[in-house]
Amino acid sequence: MESGRREQLVGHRWAIELIERSRAAGHGAHAYLLTGLPGIGKFTTAMEIAQTLLCASSSACGSCRHCRLAARSVHPDLHLIEVPSERKNIPIKDVHEFLQGIALTPVEAACKVYIIRGAEDLAEEGSNALLKTLEEPPGSVTLLLTAPVTTAVLPTIVSRCQVIALRPVAEAEIAEHLAVEHGIEVGRARAIARASEGRPGWAITAAEHPDVMDERHRRARDLLDLLNQGRLERIRYADGLAEAWGKHTDDVRDTLKAWTEAWRDVLLTQRGLADRVRLIDIWDAVQETALQLSREAVVDALAATLRTADSLDRNANPRLALESYALFLPRTGDR
Ligand SMILES: [Zn+2]
Repeated sequence: MESGRREQLVGHRWAIELIERSRAAGHGAHAYLLTGLPGIGKFTTAMEIAQTLLCASSSACGSCRHCRLAARSVHPDLHLIEVPSERKNIPIKDVHEFLQGIALTPVEAACKVYIIRGAEDLAEEGSNALLKTLEEPPGSVTLLLTAPVTTAVLPTIVSRCQVIALRPVAEAEIAEHLAVEHGIEVGRARAIARASEGRPGWAITAAEHPDVMDERHRRARDLLDLLNQGRLERIRYADGLAEAWGKHTDDVRDTLKAWTEAWRDVLLTQRGLADRVRLIDIWDAVQETALQLSREAVVDALAATLRTADSLDRNANPRLALESYALFLPRTGDR
């Protein structure tokens, strides 16, 4: 298992308490499936649950030997499987190795915890191997699975797990965590928390890599600038993106995401909800655009952005899709 300090849990305390309560009442489940958006904290929550289960006292005391080993991901009764970085799926060989010895008694703790990070990455064979274990789980074992949604996992697996659906964490809680634990200046912590849509993992990444937020603002500003450009400049910009689609597909996706966000912010501003705007570094340009365009034009542009992103993912011709999008965008006067 990889070692290193684990990320601190932000939000989701209810999930830990739920497990503590059911365990105290003697009816803890053998398998839990944690679902939620990327960066929401599924894995961090799973690790916190693991520590709770392994701890010598009743709830993750943080100071016993089990807690200390679990916090460093080196507890001999804590097992983890995830998709190797260079692979698309978890290889069946890894699944067999992972499940081997699951029926043996724990080494140090009173129980054993098996974490499957990204159960959606199990291929059919791997899912079936896991299913066999889930049908007759050894008494001392708790399995913790994570996946973005239940539909990404084999229904027969889901039906054998207690599903814990993680919800977005409160903006204030994320902002406080960034300020207190990561030393981020309060104003910036708030801006990042707002942009994170309740996902602490995303927020921490954005805080530690300022380029994530800067890049998002830069892309959004490009869009607002494009609105006062003519036909030729728009086509040129669209073609640049279309060329990037093949090689840097995720960059183009991120661009369309930033643009969706820009249109959303313009719309919120028009509706007098400026306090919910996320792209606060380009607030002036957002406000200016909101003043210059009709609501209909903004709603249409937002819809067109979502449609274009969707059609690209459905293998539309990128040049055609992006050019027609760029030409469809409304026109603002000079700013
Ligand atoms: Zn402990």
